[in-house]
Amino acid sequence: MATYCLYGEELQRFSAISENASGIGYEWEGESVVHLRLSPLAHSFGIEHTVRFVHGSRPEAGTEADYTVCVNAEGEALVWPKGACAPEPATVIPAKENLYSRSKGLIEVGILEGKRVLIIGLGSFGSQIAVELAKSGVGQFSLMDFDRVELHNLVRHTASLNDLGRLKTDFVRETILGKNPYASVDVFPVNINEHPDLLCSEVEKADLVICATDNNQSRFNISEALVRQRKVGIFGRAITRAEGGDVFRYRPGGPCYVCMIGNQWYKDMSEEITNEQSARANGQIAAYTSPEDADAMVQVGLSSDIEPMCNMMVKLSLIELSRGAESGISSLDDELTFPAYVWVNRRERHYRGFAPFDKCANRPTIMRWYGLDLPRNEECALCGEKPKLSLGEDFVKDFDPELTRINTDFDDDISEALK
Ligand SMILES: [Zn+2]
Repeated sequence: MATYCLYGEELQRFSAISENASGIGYEWEGESVVHLRLSPLAHSFGIEHTVRFVHGSRPEAGTEADYTVCVNAEGEALVWPKGACAPEPATVIPAKENLYSRSKGLIEVGILEGKRVLIIGLGSFGSQIAVELAKSGVGQFSLMDFDRVELHNLVRHTASLNDLGRLKTDFVRETILGKNPYASVDVFPVNINEHPDLLCSEVEKADLVICATDNNQSRFNISEALVRQRKVGIFGRAITRAEGGDVFRYRPGGPCYVCMIGNQWYKDMSEEITNEQSARANGQIAAYTSPEDADAMVQVGLSSDIEPMCNMMVKLSLIELSRGAESGISSLDDELTFPAYVWVNRRERHYRGFAPFDKCANRPTIMRWYGLDLPRNEECALCGEKPKLSLGEDFVKDFDPELTRINTDFDDDISEALK
């Protein structure tokens, strides 16, 4: 017997009208699985079939449709394949209110449904975090990335070969909707560094901002928007060949991203090199560099090495989005109190001095989280009250006067001051 899938929301919609209607079926070839839809999918799959949705218990006389979905007065449905002498049962994909009932208690699904998350950068980090948040029931997304899926992305990205060449925003939107068809997803395939106004307005609308970009300029721009608009943001990245990585959470009033990296690195635009082709194109790798040397400069890691950082970013996101509601993850809020966390994958370079995992005797090892209790820097160039930019020796730079005004007035009246 074949497996038939129907969509609860579509059955509700069909029950509300009095006429019969035509739909479309998608069959997973050779697997005897057919999804019967009232509305066509944006991107179909498998073999397509004709479908009729009818009120009552039997197909219409002389119907040509491959499948007839008979819906009774209670909204229950049975499927009649063409020419069959008896109907077959179907699996109904729950309507919105029941889709995430299995997560109830662990997370406050009702609250997450109303939250809007802005995700900037949809590479190996952003794409995975987006999908995880959709699985948790987050209902509204805003996605920003101008990049397309390329061959070198595939080993670490959620996209597959079939998605090559597509905009990452469109791919991720579709994946989110595949997990939660009721989510609302706005996409902006633009470079945020060139669209500061759009960045500002999207940060304003968001309950949480995820910074998963691979360049410093965007991290600075996002940090500035977060500080200025008093929004919570979560940053994450892997370092050289993903030997480790860090996750940083900004909360208004707490230390900002520049407090963490230090004033001397603020506005430093030197980048990690993650892709040889683009690094050669923009001059980060000189033209005369041999392929072997270039290979050593390209800092990529395995997907499994990036996973721990994504996981921490998702946990921190759920804590921030559920704050104030009693749920199973509330206890994490008492534990994950630091603004920054460092993860170590391998005993290389920075972490060469770590103890072997199996002989550590209370010394630091790989495969662990280390919390960093950073203080806010009063002289932070971005959020400090007495901003100071250190360039080797103490050196006070001229700051954006608007930003300085905001930063010297860092209290709850800030939104008033900005009006
Ligand atoms: Zn700061």
